[in-house]
Amino acid sequence: MSNNTVKTVKFGGSSLASAEQFRKVRDIIFADKDRRYVVPSAPGKRFKEDTKVTDMLYACYEAASKGEDIKEIFGKIRERYDSIIAELGLDLSLENEYNKIEGALIHRTGRDYAASRGEYLNGKILAAYLGFDFIDASEVIFFRQNGTFDDEKTNDVLSAVLKRHEYAVIPGFYGVMPNDTIKTFSRGGSDITGSIVARASQSCIYENWTDVSGFLMADPRIVDNPNPIELVTYRELRELSYMGATVLHEDAIFPVRVAGIPINIKNTNIPNDKGTMIVSHCPPDGNGYITGIAGKKGFSVITIEKDMMNSEKGFGRRVLQVLESCDLSFEHLPSGIDTMSVVVNTAELESMRDLVISNICTAVDPDSISVEDNLALIAVVGRNMAKAKGTAARVCHAVARADINIRMIDQGSDEINIVLGVNEEDYEEAIRAIYARFVQQ
Ligand code: ASP
Repeated sequence: MSNNTVKTVKFGGSSLASAEQFRKVRDIIFADKDRRYVVPSAPGKRFKEDTKVTDMLYACYEAASKGEDIKEIFGKIRERYDSIIAELGLDLSLENEYNKIEGALIHRTGRDYAASRGEYLNGKILAAYLGFDFIDASEVIFFRQNGTFDDEKTNDVLSAVLKRHEYAVIPGFYGVMPNDTIKTFSRGGSDITGSIVARASQSCIYENWTDVSGFLMADPRIVDNPNPIELVTYRELRELSYMGATVLHEDAIFPVRVAGIPINIKNTNIPNDKGTMIVSHCPPDGNGYITGIAGKKGFSVITIEKDMMNSEKGFGRRVLQVLESCDLSFEHLPSGIDTMSVVVNTAELESMRDLVISNICTAVDPDSISVEDNLALIAVVGRNMAKAKGTAARVCHAVARADINIRMIDQGSDEINIVLGVNEEDYEEAIRAIYARFVQQ
């Protein structure tokens, strides 16, 4: 970790959706002079039925590419920014920028270009409001010819540029291709920009400000008022977000992780809440912890049986090769002596179910093969679980006491997670039972 005191702060769309939100953001930044590099998203929703500026820009692009008039919808985008500028009392006009962007949209300059202008314009306003320098992401964030993010070039250029700016705003979400066109990350990608800036500035922390106080131990739609997660490792977070917990873009951890910089998820509306701290390692203290419980519905199990399977070399490889040739990925592979089960996503399997079965039959000549749908997976993610005896037993006991049948159980040898498969209709109840067993007792 760096000895630097510099902090990189990223603010999500809801944190910058209105002038009122801008004021909160300014207070947060000015409360700590080390908050030197600021990465904004485009204005998000101000209320539930509102539209995010990014979505309005995509709509503009679609309309322009059909040759439709974009005056009205682009006018609404202007209004959103102009109302923020007016309410903040800024001496700033974006008129030239609007005209340039509208012209480019009419001439069908790329979809990514259109979407990126949300962050670009918001960055201009925020820089003016804070009195910080503005660094256009198209000058410091680079993509390769094949569209992948060029981390080394970006880090070299960006770290040199940041040294020349003590305080700066760098808009999130986009960068530039070798041919000078604009390219964006996938949706929610300002989180990635924040992480890249934190790495390049060797920040001591990457604060990611949003509208919730970090990650919760379980989905609040399932568990009433779940506890927040105060500390989580990058690896645990990967497991949780893969299984459906979303607060942070899943690619956002990579740049800071190589540099050992922690991420703190914070709430712009309740800035004193601690939020969630994401770190590379937690010091082992001998106790096993449950960090969180996440899960997903919509899985199928292909069960293959064959006598003496365990001594037939290459059996597993041939089964997996069938999946690979059908471009199907698998989630889990629980197996017995003479059975092998492959858990796959039902939606992905759907269109090629018969093909997959017949190809497996040809490849390994099984005694029987069946497919069962309606499986939900639940990941109980934790740390030091390998050293805490009885974690798996407690999970199973909790589920059994709730009168729920476990269809599958899978535990990696690192014991960072235990994955259970249950019927979809038991999914919510099983999560509640595990949560109650570990957290409420
Ligand atoms: N504005 C972009 C989106 O809505 C990127 C971001 O907010 O991170 O996906």
